[in-house]
Amino acid sequence: MKNIPEIFGSLVFNDAVMKARLPKETYRLLRRTMAEGKHLDLSVANVVANAMKDWATENGATHFTHWFQPMTGITAEKHDSFISPTDDGRVIMEFSGKELVRGETDASSFPSCGLRSTFEARGYTAWDPTSYAFIKDGTLCIPTAFCSYGGEALDKKTPLLRSMEAINKRALRVVKLFGNEGSARVTTTVGPEQEYFLIDKKVYEKRPDLIYCGRTLFGAKPPKGQELDDHYFGSIKPRVAAFMKELDEELWKLGVLSKTKHNEGAPAQHELAPIFTTTNIACDHNQLTMELMKNIAKKHDLVCLLHEKPFAGISGSGKHNNWSISTNTGVNLLDPGETPQDNAQFILFLCAVIKAVDDYQDMLRLSVATAGNDHRLGAAEAPPAVVSMFLGDELTAILDSLENDTVYDAKEEVLMRIGVHVLPKFKKDTTDRNRTSPLAFTGNKFEFRMPGASLAVASVNVVLNTAVAKVLEDFADELENAEDFQKALHDLIVRTIREHKRIIFNGNGYDDAWIKEATEVRGLSNLKTTPDALMHYLDPKNVELFTSMKVFSEAEMKSRRDIRMENYCKVMKIEALTMIEMAEKQFIPAMSKYGKLLADTIASKKAVCTTLDCTFEEKTLTRLSELTAVAYEKVCDLKAHMGKLAEMKKDFIGSAFFIKDEIIPCMNALRAAVDEAETICASEYWPVPTYGEILFSVK
Ligand code: ADP
Ligand code: MG
Repeated sequence: MKNIPEIFGSLVFNDAVMKARLPKETYRLLRRTMAEGKHLDLSVANVVANAMKDWATENGATHFTHWFQPMTGITAEKHDSFISPTDDGRVIMEFSGKELVRGETDASSFPSCGLRSTFEARGYTAWDPTSYAFIKDGTLCIPTAFCSYGGEALDKKTPLLRSMEAINKRALRVVKLFGNEGSARVTTTVGPEQEYFLIDKKVYEKRPDLIYCGRTLFGAKPPKGQELDDHYFGSIKPRVAAFMKELDEELWKLGVLSKTKHNEGAPAQHELAPIFTTTNIACDHNQLTMELMKNIAKKHDLVCLLHEKPFAGISGSGKHNNWSISTNTGVNLLDPGETPQDNAQFILFLCAVIKAVDDYQDMLRLSVATAGNDHRLGAAEAPPAVVSMFLGDELTAILDSLENDTVYDAKEEVLMRIGVHVLPKFKKDTTDRNRTSPLAFTGNKFEFRMPGASLAVASVNVVLNTAVAKVLEDFADELENAEDFQKALHDLIVRTIREHKRIIFNGNGYDDAWIKEATEVRGLSNLKTTPDALMHYLDPKNVELFTSMKVFSEAEMKSRRDIRMENYCKVMKIEALTMIEMAEKQFIPAMSKYGKLLADTIASKKAVCTTLDCTFEEKTLTRLSELTAVAYEKVCDLKAHMGKLAEMKKDFIGSAFFIKDEIIPCMNALRAAVDEAETICASEYWPVPTYGEILFSVK
């Protein structure tokens, strides 16, 4: 057994390493930059770069890279070696401050949708000194933000850092109103729980849909799915355990606080949860976690599926985004606290989140909208596409009594008064186990459950941070000018509850009656698909939110909306083409072949004796012929649709809606025919591994 405290962070240029290796003054200046987001002087950067290079080369690194998260959703890296030629024909290892703080990169192959014209196709990457550098596969990786020369964000990190600054500024104003002068910084924290599937490489390689799309496009329900609930928290199979052990060790070396691992609800499904940390670091770490999961799985002859819905009819994979706000003095602002003052502050922050979620429910919904997640949200076991919040019965009752000035504690006839009363101790997480709420308050944090497993979680946190920042700004404006603070606070809280309580729902989110009530009575939005959701990106109130908080310019928003529409179209196009190929080359020929066997059997039986019973063969052949005809017809329709889609060229909005309204129904019909055929064809004729074979492939 390796010594875990010793390996933890061994590949990270972390605080301990900096302290040990940097001159005192350099260390102090760097810490200040990290704590206050100040600019780093080039002379300081030079010293840091040199120390980093020495440390990295001692630990086996030969190259460095600016590691960033372009809009493609994965991370990108361009490796440069440290070598620098000397006059006498040798090389020395060099790394300058300039190379550390800023790298240039050809931005032209990353999506930007109009943000930079090709004649100035260069962008630059800038070090995010609040996220530590680390060594991965012999390369020193420097977490960076990626911008165009015009300064527009081309990545997911830049807006995230801006949103963290936005909420810091406003939350500090509010915290000060409660007399907490000592706080210098407020940061949001995130702990993303990551779900994933592990399947055997051999079955994976036989499924073009898994290879090209990361999810199955065909597949009949297996006799055994997850109905016995025997997988969740079940004992972990040896091959999976070996994978998890190696994954943990590699993550720990990179300073990722991987904490919990267990089996999830579906067969072959698992989860990893880290200990939460500052949002930008948590997002970086989650990207690393996903990358390592995929790579380490390969070493074990496994494949890690991060798709949000790899198998129809079986739980999809989510990424629960646990989110909270804390001061640098260690106060969690979403923790009820012990004194009337703390409670009042807690209730105000809680109200800020409630209002933010209600006002920007469409932005939250669209922050998780992807082609893959469309199969998951609103399906039986995932949160619905309607955003609502779970507060639990007790906290809801407290808000009710505040709103209505009614007695909360019947025994003592207590009227809840803000700033006067200590909140009664309510149990954490009591009714939350049903997991049907998209956004649940779980005692001292919110758990946002809509993100899909493969999502780069930055997008969600940009929206949460920015929306709450905006509300806190309005709150601070109102309260800072109040003559009677306690009264103004009470009025603001009551008004906020009254105006926004429609977003609170403690019942069963999977219930159809809820969706009806949510949309028809409460007027909540129900954006069912990615194209529907993305159409709200540029609504004036959303543009106003992000521009006023200086998180996005309008041009950046427009480009992001376009990139995501385009991405939806690309993903769906690949899926449709894969379906056509699998149906034409594999399934329809297999159906014909089995049909021929049946026809031959009928003919030979009849040749022996005309009265021999052929009911099975005849019925099966008839149905199979019908299904083959439907499958063929749908393939032809799909091909025709693909032709039309090609004509729509760069009209991504038109294309997205055409896909949603015409292509997806056609894909569904094709799948239904093939899946039924699977159930009646003999196993040896079926050309790909079945759901049963995939889901139970890891012994
Ligand atoms: P559950 O399965 O009940 O949701 P887990 O332990 O799997 O619980 O996950 C809870 C996650 O919430 C962990 O990643 C944890 O670190 C994170 N978390 C706890 N407190 C906070 C906080 N203040 N801010 C952000 N995340 C938090
Ligand atoms: Mg959870």
